[in-house]
Amino acid sequence: MTEKIKKKKFTFGPVPSRRLGRSLGIDFVPFKTCTYDCVYCQLGRTTNKTIDLKEYSPVDDIIDGVRTKLQGIPRPDYITLSGSGEPTLHSRVRDIIQGIKGITDIPVAVLTNGSLFWIDEVRNSVLDADLIIPSLDGGDAETFLYVNRPHQVISFDKMIRGLIELREQFDGPIWLEVFLIKGVTDGESELVKIKTWIDRIVPDVIQLNTAVRTPAEDFVDLVKQDTLEDIARFLGPRCEIIADYSKVHRLGEFKRTRDDVLDMLVLRPCSIDDISGGLDLHRNEVIKYVEELLDQKLIRKKKQGERILYHAIRNHDKRIIHNTNEHQLKGD
Ligand code: SF4
Repeated sequence: MTEKIKKKKFTFGPVPSRRLGRSLGIDFVPFKTCTYDCVYCQLGRTTNKTIDLKEYSPVDDIIDGVRTKLQGIPRPDYITLSGSGEPTLHSRVRDIIQGIKGITDIPVAVLTNGSLFWIDEVRNSVLDADLIIPSLDGGDAETFLYVNRPHQVISFDKMIRGLIELREQFDGPIWLEVFLIKGVTDGESELVKIKTWIDRIVPDVIQLNTAVRTPAEDFVDLVKQDTLEDIARFLGPRCEIIADYSKVHRLGEFKRTRDDVLDMLVLRPCSIDDISGGLDLHRNEVIKYVEELLDQKLIRKKKQGERILYHAIRNHDKRIIHNTNEHQLKGD
């Protein structure tokens, strides 16, 4: 494998992340290979729902890719195991983390749905990370099935047990993400149940999110900001809101890439995959820029059969678009 392919294949970004600053993503499990099929997933429906632990990508190539990438960019704040599949499905996550730590002292974060920590091997594989960000999106089995649509082997009890055991074993910080859906998990009885489990899991931080980005299913509705603020108060001082209603962030070094995406959409309507292929960007990166451009009403989306295409809004002068919207970009 050439250096160029290694660099492109397993790393993406750095991307601007609200939580992690400049985060260099590592993606080593295939697209939508996941233990869940969350109704809110911004990547669409899961195409390979599995709990098979496998070496989905060769560890040496992943580490070489990270090493090569780091040589060509300013130091990121975090290296984040994330991407477009569930990272803990990789059977050698421990080797990946240790391999990264062998080449850099940049902290390593694991962004995971947290569904497999009831398996000793999986729990042990992440213990060398500096930060773990798992999810808890419901307070009981019924909501879990509705929201996360897990692989049939993963029960709510197993998932919760895994998170509690992870807390007992992992010395570093755990930031628990709770994704709330209007009419499903924003009611008092559901929140009381969620809080009960949070008290058992004892995360260092609780991070509330909601459907500010396009979800997999049309029926998923976002929780309004003032409601989320009430919920944050209810869950206590360790709770913060990460859902981004402001929609705009300082672009800085990322403005050029946002403009490249817009330039492409001025020329012709494109899907996320078209943009990803055309600009050689990871899907997750493309989604950030597309959502930003949608928020700024510089592009529109339309359905064409099963595909969603994005196109620049006509009668905007490209130069005006670029000049009036600089320094803004949505967070992670
Ligand atoms: S949101 Fe994450 S855990 Fe849920 S289906 Fe998408 S990739 Fe999997």
